[in-house]
Amino acid sequence: MFLGPPGAGKGTQAAALAAQRGVLHLSTGDLLRAAIAAGTPLGREVDQYMRAGELVPDDLMLRALSDRLTRPDARAGFVLDGFPRTIAQASALEQIAPLDLVVSFELSQETLVERLSGRRVCPRCQTVYNVTTRPPRLAGRCDLDGAELVQRPDDQPGPIANRMKVYARQTAPLLQYYQERGRLRTLAANGSPEEVAARLRRIVDAVRPETTAPTRPASR
Ligand code: AMP
Repeated sequence: MFLGPPGAGKGTQAAALAAQRGVLHLSTGDLLRAAIAAGTPLGREVDQYMRAGELVPDDLMLRALSDRLTRPDARAGFVLDGFPRTIAQASALEQIAPLDLVVSFELSQETLVERLSGRRVCPRCQTVYNVTTRPPRLAGRCDLDGAELVQRPDDQPGPIANRMKVYARQTAPLLQYYQERGRLRTLAANGSPEEVAARLRRIVDAVRPETTAPTRPASR
């Protein structure tokens, strides 16, 4: 599970690690945004909270998460990104799917705000760009599918400030929670995505060495 303030790079790293390990990248933010885009009852319920940068109520989140974890693609394992965000969510998760490792992403407040306000996202494939640090080849267009990039409504100054406050008040206590349970490792989240990925890999490999599939003798 990746723990850290908004803008720390959890989503970028979770997508890369999950792809490399062949497990599910479960971002609760992406899950909720997809529900909003699809106009589902869940989406209608969570829209206002998200726009304001407030947390969605725990009971709604827990239901959405456990539904998602019962799907077959979660069976091989998962990287959780954006969940849990409260102590109540963390203790409920212990009952559903205990975590092997919690990685705390550490980054200065200044860099966080810079990353969030410059973030642009492809609405089609969810690839994340940054206008200054990772611009697309063609301004405003996704490199992969050409879709017009968008700014998340909660990446505006008001909601950004609120998300930081919400993080400090409701989510940061999880650092101590997982520290006490011996599951927390810290990651310096500054630098390029590649640099961070290399540091992250060392942490993950120490806890969960990559298993290579047994090679079968060639059949005759
Ligand atoms: P993220 O994409 O992780 O930054 O999440 C965007 C927004 O989705 C948050 O600001 C919350 O409104 C909502 N959200 C995502 N995950 C959770 C969670 N575990 N608990 C409550 N709200 C969440």
